[in-house]
Amino acid sequence: MYEGVVQDLIDELGRLPGIGPKSAQRIAFHLLAADPIDVRRLAEVLVQVKDKMRFCEECGNVAEEERCRICRDARRDPSVLCVVEEPKDVVAIERTREYRGRYHVLGGAISPIEGIGPDDLRVRELIQRLADGTVREVILATDPNLEGEATATYLARMLGPMGLRVTRLASGLPVGGDLEYADEVTLGRAFEGRRLLDA
Ligand SMILES: [Zn+2]
Repeated sequence: MYEGVVQDLIDELGRLPGIGPKSAQRIAFHLLAADPIDVRRLAEVLVQVKDKMRFCEECGNVAEEERCRICRDARRDPSVLCVVEEPKDVVAIERTREYRGRYHVLGGAISPIEGIGPDDLRVRELIQRLADGTVREVILATDPNLEGEATATYLARMLGPMGLRVTRLASGLPVGGDLEYADEVTLGRAFEGRRLLDA
């Protein structure tokens, strides 16, 4: 145990995803030694991200207003909807500059081990968005791992009877990985070569 607020900082950092006790300690001492201006800037963005940012009411992406920048953009094709797990996947796909449709962020993937089922994801919102018939194609761009595949299979089965074109990103993506780790060229190609899923 360290004295005073340093220990509080280590405890708080240690609660963040992917940060173990050693990393928490390293970051805390880095901050302790850092320039006060840099630390203040970090503290300010931490507060601001909770004050200013929220999730888009339409697609679930990160947004500064009720609807995110992509949902507000009238030039985006409303007939194609790309379903992803997390906002970071939207960023990865946008980087490819291959896709001009809209998104739907599920907020995770189906994982029986972690007790995450379809009801824990934004599946109901997805079905609601598809109800008016504007969307003609749904691209399932969940991660190429066990949970992502299970989610895609579940959604394909659910969306099949709705008379939509349901596609899945082409193979060639690193299997078992995360969409965000695919380079732009590979991810762009996976979009081009997306395949139709049987209902
Ligand atoms: Zn949105």
